[in-house]
Amino acid sequence: MFKTYNFSAGPAMLPKTVMRKAQKEFLNWKNTGFSVIEISHRSKNFYNTIKNAEKILRKLLKISEKYAVLFCHGGARGQFSTIPMSFIHNNYEKADYINSGYWSKSAFLEAKKYCNANKINVKQLKKNKKIIIPMKKWKLNNESKYVHYCPNETIEGISIYEEPNFFSKKIIIGDFSSTLLSRVININKYSLIYAGAQKNIGPSGITLIILKKNLIKNINNKIVPSILNYSTLLENESLFNTPTTFSWYLSGLVFKWLKKIGGLKKIQKINSKKSNLLYNTIDKSDFYFNNVGKKNRSKMNIVFNTPNEKLDNLFIQESEKKGLFFLKNHYLIGGLRASIYNSMPFKGVKKLVKFMIFFEKIYG
Ligand SMILES: *Cc1c(COP(=O)(O)O)cnc(C)c1O
Repeated sequence: MFKTYNFSAGPAMLPKTVMRKAQKEFLNWKNTGFSVIEISHRSKNFYNTIKNAEKILRKLLKISEKYAVLFCHGGARGQFSTIPMSFIHNNYEKADYINSGYWSKSAFLEAKKYCNANKINVKQLKKNKKIIIPMKKWKLNNESKYVHYCPNETIEGISIYEEPNFFSKKIIIGDFSSTLLSRVININKYSLIYAGAQKNIGPSGITLIILKKNLIKNINNKIVPSILNYSTLLENESLFNTPTTFSWYLSGLVFKWLKKIGGLKKIQKINSKKSNLLYNTIDKSDFYFNNVGKKNRSKMNIVFNTPNEKLDNLFIQESEKKGLFFLKNHYLIGGLRASIYNSMPFKGVKKLVKFMIFFEKIYG
């Protein structure tokens, strides 16, 4: 078969070994005679599987017992609404929304329905490159109920690697959709972290939430629908209604895979090696351009351009002929983007770089 690589921003590649395992046991899961997708979410086998998945995830991210791990529906966008609904009790109350790109701004726009949301811009242009100003210069409001930010803007390829240190009294919320499990983070620096699965976790459909248990008391229970209520989810071990069982099961296999290859320290090294290779190729050439300052470059979503739109389009056409797919960036900003999540092997990035050099030779 023609070897293909998928550089999509999500749903993205998943580890081949994981998919092979799922395929092998698809019709007869754990010798039950049934597929995992035909089994009750309340069956013992399924329960043991999801509890084991949580255990591995807790080890990978070093999540203490102070935090709850929840799985729910609705994706990251579902959380854009759940968060203000949960922590805002009157719509004049304030919340701080750090704006660093498309997703953090989308969270802000949704929150405006529920509260007095402050949009705080932290992006600047410095020598033609986009940078994020240091956290200590973020102009937070004293009265705000929480701060929301996005450490990896998937569309713009901008990351915030600094971890929140100084606002210890604030509730700190992070949309980690496209960076969770790609590197080591200190969970204790955050009050609530959430991520849609389809980037680094598993198939689309399930959403992962890690929250400090002492936040539960702040929830506006009168307003939040039970299906979105962290308290209800916690009491019911995320089995309040029927979960997306397949996605949950497969995410568990991905956690196992990640543990087996050496955990987050190891994957962080691999991810740095992959992104360095791409950024070095871009920086060395006069043909390709990336518009993000070095400190804030995403290691997951590498955005770049050729000298013009026509060549960008040709790049997309020609790359597909070599088995390199979905390198077109989001229609909102155009240009090219290589999403290289955990499952993208170094070999795939090497093949892309080889193609980039080849393309530049012909059209540069
Ligand atoms: C993909 C993505 C989203 C949207 O996730 P859904 O699960 O589709 O709602 C939100 N935020 C970030 C940072 C993303 O990368």
